[in-house]
Amino acid sequence: MTELSLQQTACPVCGAAGFRRFLAGRDVRCGIDGLFSVVRCDTCRHLYMNPAPTAESLEACYPSDYAPHLAGVTKPGAVAEDGIQSRPGSSERVGPARPWYLRYLPLKSVPGLRSLYYWLTDDRTQPVPLARSVCPSAAATRIPVSPKALELGCSTGNYLAALHRQGWEVYGVELCAEPARVACEAGWNVHQGTLETAGLQDEAFDLIAAWMVLEHVPEPVATIQTIHQLLRADGILLLGVPNAACWQRYLFGANWYCLDLPRHLQHFSPSILRKLLEQAGFDQIEIVHHRTLLGLVGSLGIVIRRWFPSARLGGWMQRYPEQPRLLLQLLLSPLAIAFSLIHQGEGLTVQARKRSARG
Ligand SMILES: [Zn+2]
Repeated sequence: MTELSLQQTACPVCGAAGFRRFLAGRDVRCGIDGLFSVVRCDTCRHLYMNPAPTAESLEACYPSDYAPHLAGVTKPGAVAEDGIQSRPGSSERVGPARPWYLRYLPLKSVPGLRSLYYWLTDDRTQPVPLARSVCPSAAATRIPVSPKALELGCSTGNYLAALHRQGWEVYGVELCAEPARVACEAGWNVHQGTLETAGLQDEAFDLIAAWMVLEHVPEPVATIQTIHQLLRADGILLLGVPNAACWQRYLFGANWYCLDLPRHLQHFSPSILRKLLEQAGFDQIEIVHHRTLLGLVGSLGIVIRRWFPSARLGGWMQRYPEQPRLLLQLLLSPLAIAFSLIHQGEGLTVQARKRSARG
């Protein structure tokens, strides 16, 4: 099994060297050898992995069976794979496939049921904005120019496909070779590498999205600054990260599903994330707590596997978040919505606007 090469690092948010050991955990997802430490910065209180993988060993953190890189592929021009049509005039969202009983039962005829279904299944994890709602000027102009969107960490391109359906001209950047190759073969314009090596023009994008990416990068301040440069004035940044300030992190500690060591190098709280974005030149920052409890199912799976290694249930529950079923999402949704309302979502969706020169 791979052993990573690690190095001591200063706080990736404020640069201070002082820290306290917070917890130590193993790779329960991909089985990379080692005991990995998360520390808390003495100065800004940010939680980060220290020692962290060296630049050369970052790619080794992602074995070929890493689930987020095995997502199905949607080609340009295809309709949504799950068959869920977005409501006219609304934004779209990416979620689990719609099961047969919702496709064939005459549920559409029950008044209010459709709205209730959309409300319960909108987990707020990956909103897909309509191009003309972010760029009303593009809709008004006679020249058919699509607003441009970039996704950082686009994997095999499914979110690019969703953006494309909503009127965006899309570009992707993906660090890992295999998912980038799959996305390119499907017809998407994807650069394999980092934002810095992509050769993108400054102020070229109206929207930049980064779903569950920022917690993986060694230098989040530099990444946010680069995103800021690539956005035009008033452009929108959308990002998602696990919420390291939620109750599940306290309850499960090293068994928290979203800890995902050694791939998650940063563990953001909403307040530190907000400060980072403000310092980089963003305003109108809105933080929405996810309405999902998939991480809770995964964390319980990790605990069960620890106590009963031979029981299949633990493994099944730990893998469940990678292929969720709509039925369990519907059953858990009232609880997930309640945690979101009291700002205890297991993940965060952040929208921020690049401050224009006039402020
Ligand atoms: Zn710090």
